[in-house]
Amino acid sequence: MKPTGRLEPQPWMDTPQVRALFDSLGRSDVVARFVGGCVRDAVLQRPMVNVDIDLAVDKPPETIMRALASAKLKSVPTGLKHGTVTALVEGDRFELTTLRRDVETDGRRAVVAYTDDWLEDANRRDFTFNALYADRDGTLYDPFDGRSDLAAGRVRFIGDADTRIAEDRLRVLRFFRFHAWYGRLPLDGPSFEACRRNAAVLGGLSGERVAKELLRLLEAPAPADALQAMAEAGALDHWLPEFVGVARLRALIAREDAPDPLRRLAAILPSVADATAIGKRLKLSTQQALRLEVMLAPKPVIDVAGGPKAWRAGIYGLGNNLYADRLLLALDAPGDWRAALVLARSWTPPELPVSGGDALKLGLKPGPRVGALIEAVERWWIDGDFAAHRGACLAELERLARGA
Ligand code: ATP
Ligand code: MG
Repeated sequence: MKPTGRLEPQPWMDTPQVRALFDSLGRSDVVARFVGGCVRDAVLQRPMVNVDIDLAVDKPPETIMRALASAKLKSVPTGLKHGTVTALVEGDRFELTTLRRDVETDGRRAVVAYTDDWLEDANRRDFTFNALYADRDGTLYDPFDGRSDLAAGRVRFIGDADTRIAEDRLRVLRFFRFHAWYGRLPLDGPSFEACRRNAAVLGGLSGERVAKELLRLLEAPAPADALQAMAEAGALDHWLPEFVGVARLRALIAREDAPDPLRRLAAILPSVADATAIGKRLKLSTQQALRLEVMLAPKPVIDVAGGPKAWRAGIYGLGNNLYADRLLLALDAPGDWRAALVLARSWTPPELPVSGGDALKLGLKPGPRVGALIEAVERWWIDGDFAAHRGACLAELERLARGA
């Protein structure tokens, strides 16, 4: 593989940690090059979004681990099956993967063999701009002219797209994910057509992997075009048949204060979607599934036009973050959603100043009536815009307890 240029020096390429890492590998005759996201983002002069730095190395994992150990650097065999070792150097993580070539592929996992041929390793990567390598001094290797594709916003498979998808069907999802982050319309024709032809095989993937790709796609600054293309290719048919289009997603993105992939997912689903079923299908965590459920539930309706008092009542009921989610998704509700959002991000709801214990002190027996009374006081307190302090709340509790 021949050098094809130079990278501008990057701050992350010359840290004490990187120097310690390369020095230790060099002492064991290991050649290491930066690869993948870190080089790609450097070429684009984008701030690095991923913290982990990927490196390709020309010796097998055992040699790498020995080289690191003799320099007293910590390593973890994170993915020995794929030839990956994680080096931990003074708090920084580096993923070191031995050069590979595919021996056998069944569309889901590949049997790989190690090689010392850099071009062979480049050939098994997915997209032209994902096969960019850089030496520690910035010498750049770009065997498939990925830089032109990056500049043009073109996500392009290395080699024959159908073959590459047959080797690993996850690449269809990666295609749209990378398009969301690095692409511009129109999509690369042959790559897109191959994704369309192969969309039906996506059913064979696992929910976790699909969800991971989908959420990473949705996290991109402007993912709507990629998602739309994904739907047109039929790549959402199996995993997200509920998809309703990107109109609400675009509207949400125009108003959100920070990108949030799960909230954006809610924006591409119909209001009647079965959040539980989607959570199960995509193997979302319990927390994610619950949040999705709250975001899609028909109630409570967010009263945006009701002004600060209604906003405070809503924030108290849902909690700041879920209220903000529902507010941002209440795209058709009239009212000053901006002011409501500022409140949701800044106001800390007070705690109800009375509790069941206070009811017992009034001589009530423990039981459901106590709960009902406290709830009634709470409604009264919310209705008064949280103005009543403890004394007034106790008086109201007593009044209600007397059966007034
Ligand atoms: P990011 O970390 O920001 O997602 P990345 O390009 O580093 O971007 P990774 O998933 O970390 O992506 O993978 C590192 C590199 O490994 C990729 O750049 C690509 O060259 C290669 N790669 C990863 N997954 C595949 C795949 N399914 N098929 C082919 N090559 C892949
Ligand atoms: Mg990476």
